Amino acid sequence: MERIAYLGLGIMGSGMASNLLKAGYPVTVWNRSPESCKPLVEQGATQAQTPAQAVQSADVIIYCLSNEQAVEDVVFGQDGILSNVQSGKIAINTSTVHPDTSHQEAAAYAQKNVEFLDAPVFGSKNEAICGGLWIVVGGKQDVFERVKPILQTFTATAHYLGDTGKGACMKLIGNSIVATQIEALGEAMVLATKAGLNPKDVLDVLHVVDFRSPVFDGVGQTLVNRDFTTSFALKHLLKDVNLIARLAQDLNSPMPAAAMVRETIKTAVNQGWGEENATAFIKALELEAGAIVKS
Ligand code: NAP
Repeated sequence: MERIAYLGLGIMGSGMASNLLKAGYPVTVWNRSPESCKPLVEQGATQAQTPAQAVQSADVIIYCLSNEQAVEDVVFGQDGILSNVQSGKIAINTSTVHPDTSHQEAAAYAQKNVEFLDAPVFGSKNEAICGGLWIVVGGKQDVFERVKPILQTFTATAHYLGDTGKGACMKLIGNSIVATQIEALGEAMVLATKAGLNPKDVLDVLHVVDFRSPVFDGVGQTLVNRDFTTSFALKHLLKDVNLIARLAQDLNSPMPAAAMVRETIKTAVNQGWGEENATAFIKALELEAGAIVKS
């Protein structure tokens, strides 16, 4: 079996690394805050002190990091992956980043004769834990086919989208829909509350009507329960909507609704809710409306 290096053991990375271990892959882990390695080491992983050390003898290098700065530090930085990656290996970035970052990574790895896939994921904490993520991949198709059995240890489906950057683009496109759906649900639930409807009755209707959505079902339930426990931090959603705006601007593509949703998300982060779950941006709508959605 291929030897894996897994870097970035946050909410998503720790679930993915755990599933690689469960599938029997030898895994070396690294995380900036080393204490996050402990549960994986207890599961059989080897802990590295630096990204450079983690990739020393790995065949496939996978990482899941917050943002572009983290990729800059871990991939390009001192003691970073590129400082020690060996020719003939494969690197896979599962973080949500701008496709320009994927192109920079691919070019730098190519100089070292290393293959690269941009491969962000859909799904959240629970899907990462149970191996049920959905992965969207850019890069060479034959490289994607070679690593598919590895990706299958933590995904329900794997989708090849095209050359470098296409996975990153697909992820941003998907998250623009998710953010807009949460805004639509939030606006509707706040209006329903002000109109005197019981939020639980509203969710029952949303669950069966022809515009039903798993996002509405999941977010709706946590909203009425006032549960904003983090599985995907609001600060990361703000990062994503900023990336979406940048991509749309680069391509001169209209996204007026997404621009308005970005304002709501910004307001919510400015209220200090960035570490809460992404759905907490609905609280910005509640603040403006002077109404709280609860059962
Ligand atoms: P998270 O729990 O906040 O973890 C972020 C990881 O990045 C941690 O391992 C953190 O290390 C590391 N990191 C941050 N800045 C760093 C730096 N400068 N140098 C080195 N390491 C750094 O985030 P997450 O929820 O797992 O998300 C990770 C990525 O997946 C993000 O791009 C996010 O948008 C994407 N994503 C998340 C979800 C979700 O539902 N959570 C779903 C799909 C995609 P420390 O532990 O030391 O802070």
